[in-house]
Amino acid sequence: MKVAIYTLGCKVNQYETQAMESALREKGHEIVDFSAQADAYIVNTCSVTAVSDQKSRQIIHRVQKQRPGAVVAVCGCYPQTHAEDVRALGVDLVAGTGDRMGFLELLEKTAAEKRYIESIDESFERRVFEVLPAGGQSRRTRAMLKVEDGCVNFCTYCIIPYARGPVRSAPLETVQKQAAQLKAEGYREIVVTGIEISSWGRDLKNGQTLIDLLEGISSAAPGVRIRLGSLEPRTITEEFCHRAAAIPELCPQFHLSLQSGCDETLRRMNRRYDTARYLESVELLNRFFRRPAITTDLITGFPEETEEEFDRTLEFIRRCAFAQMHIFPYSIRPGTPAAGMRQNPKSVKEERAHRAAAEAEEMHEAYLKGCVGEVYPVLFEQPRDGAFSGHAPNYMEVLVSGGEELHNVIKNVRILRADGQALWGEILEETE
Ligand code: SF4
Repeated sequence: MKVAIYTLGCKVNQYETQAMESALREKGHEIVDFSAQADAYIVNTCSVTAVSDQKSRQIIHRVQKQRPGAVVAVCGCYPQTHAEDVRALGVDLVAGTGDRMGFLELLEKTAAEKRYIESIDESFERRVFEVLPAGGQSRRTRAMLKVEDGCVNFCTYCIIPYARGPVRSAPLETVQKQAAQLKAEGYREIVVTGIEISSWGRDLKNGQTLIDLLEGISSAAPGVRIRLGSLEPRTITEEFCHRAAAIPELCPQFHLSLQSGCDETLRRMNRRYDTARYLESVELLNRFFRRPAITTDLITGFPEETEEEFDRTLEFIRRCAFAQMHIFPYSIRPGTPAAGMRQNPKSVKEERAHRAAAEAEEMHEAYLKGCVGEVYPVLFEQPRDGAFSGHAPNYMEVLVSGGEELHNVIKNVRILRADGQALWGEILEETE
């Protein structure tokens, strides 16, 4: 049958979609674009905010209206946390975030037997990591590799622990086998992905931690760049940095989730660090890596956040000198502890987001300017604006003059200038 998948949300959801696509092809089905005519449509949903739920419903309604005869299947975090709401939408198959391969068998069953099927497990009862086929989407030079699922941090604004269950780690040998496979398939970069990768190894109870995993990937796929997904500050210790700096393939870009630069607000968020511990992580990374790109997430207007607290946050982010920031006005998530706290007005959340964005833009430009004159091995991906675009290890975009011959090739580039969002450079010499 012809199957089309629409994916909302995070890298893990995108990873699971590409895994479902390759498994469906293995089964002899054809993957078509979501706008094309298909026998079955899968909506792989997100539920990180109430807005994500709404977007998920919009896509479901749209496909139900446009493709009346086709099978409509819904999976992911929305049904996992809001089964009743999804059940009421009148789709053909409903499943959660567990057992993605089992979900595909149910899809075939629903299509063959033309009857409603629902399969949503209790996420907190999960104990085993579901190993899925690794890969990247076509033409992509980098592949995501999911190494962990679940989270038990219970930040007060977050529903993910309920959607994804406890921490489950992929065994080191499995990850190494998949990394070697990705190298053999020609990928030049592996993005280590998960719901909370800082917890990798926690459930394996063999003393292994994230740094053991990274060293393992490096030995299994030598020469393939390793890029890290989002990290918790507790991961960044002297020992971690010492060993990480010795991994030649590790890209010095660290997405260290901050959320607030004020200790009182961090306490209300139930984040597992304070600003002193966060700053220690930033200083360690700057000590062990040459001009690392430290990037982060920030929530503005969190419940009960005062103007003074926010001023402290602005001052703190300046001290961290982030290369890039993702800024989110707080979005209430019913069912989380933060939803029960005294809310800040929408205008306050957005006004603070604007002020933080202005700081972030200044820091980003300063970081880009600091790249001028540097030489980076750039992994080239695609044409853009009459030039050819790629990414340096610090994940800054680099443009050079050149064509398709550069696709999926790594070249040394001297950075000549920075303009706003990207760097422009000249290729030095063959590096392959
Ligand atoms: S660390 Fe916090 S924000 Fe991140 S997934 Fe876990 S509970 Fe959610």
